Amino acid sequence: MKENIMFITKSAIQVINDESFKWKNMKIECGGSLVGIFFNRIPLILYAIDTGTNASQSGGHLVTDHNYQNKMICAIISQYPSALSELHYLGDFHMHPMYFPKMSGTDEQTSKKILHDPIHSNLPALSILITTFDSNGTIEFCPFLAIRDNINDASFNRAKLEVIDENDSNITNVLGRRYVDYRNILEAKEMHESFPHQFNTNSFVNCKIGNARLDKEIDDLRNTFKIDVAIKRADIIFCEMQFEDVKIHIFFPQEFPLNPPTIMFSQGEAEMQEYHPYYAWNSLSSIANLLEDLLVRQLGKEVKKQETSTTIPDERDKK
Ligand SMILES: [Zn+2]
Repeated sequence: MKENIMFITKSAIQVINDESFKWKNMKIECGGSLVGIFFNRIPLILYAIDTGTNASQSGGHLVTDHNYQNKMICAIISQYPSALSELHYLGDFHMHPMYFPKMSGTDEQTSKKILHDPIHSNLPALSILITTFDSNGTIEFCPFLAIRDNINDASFNRAKLEVIDENDSNITNVLGRRYVDYRNILEAKEMHESFPHQFNTNSFVNCKIGNARLDKEIDDLRNTFKIDVAIKRADIIFCEMQFEDVKIHIFFPQEFPLNPPTIMFSQGEAEMQEYHPYYAWNSLSSIANLLEDLLVRQLGKEVKKQETSTTIPDERDKK
């Protein structure tokens, strides 16, 4: 990452602005996930997801509502079936009700945890966008990029925010269609909830988008680990694979990717046991990353990993 630039759409700025003003007078923190793509390893925030109604909020803390955030991420993904491999969870935004235009100690700790979570190992940098209000009540946007430093450390760099139009042709190209307005995404989520047969988040994995997502995950597993993956589709979807002497079973819940898969493994003659990494699962997390954590970091295997994500179309065309 040479320059610390962060691109953001006007539409995402609007959501963050509206959220910040909405909670400002109550002096309560608010915030949500940032979803977007990478252009040459520079994050482009396409969407900022609003706080929702079930987050735990006070003047000095915020715990986002994972369920709401995940459903919104799914509602976003479902608009762009052809851009599944380009869309990423990029980071989070939140508001400091008292004037504090920098990252707090807690903000830094949380960011380090996210960056070093194996689920996010494809993420080149974490985008953190803080808003705060000066004594005149003027909003200030404070963007930071967190980059992995050491084993459990990260460096935090103030970034420059560049606002771009969501109807820019580069964005349309990557997304495979014109940018969908955030209000339409909210409506799509509500419609899916009131007409679950049309888009059943309880059986997301069986609908078209859920299937496409699952296919992509399985392709990634085959390519990353050069292994055969056997799939059985019944009430739950079950995948079986063998990497050297390690046998791996993956059970995808009906709510995948809203909820994480269950991964069981055994090495040699040992009993099957469950692998637990899931505290920061979100619906854009990658299963290949989880398996890499299991195989490389926990079991000491060597995996010749191929870059499968974070490529931009220009680069891919040259190969
Ligand atoms: Zn903070």
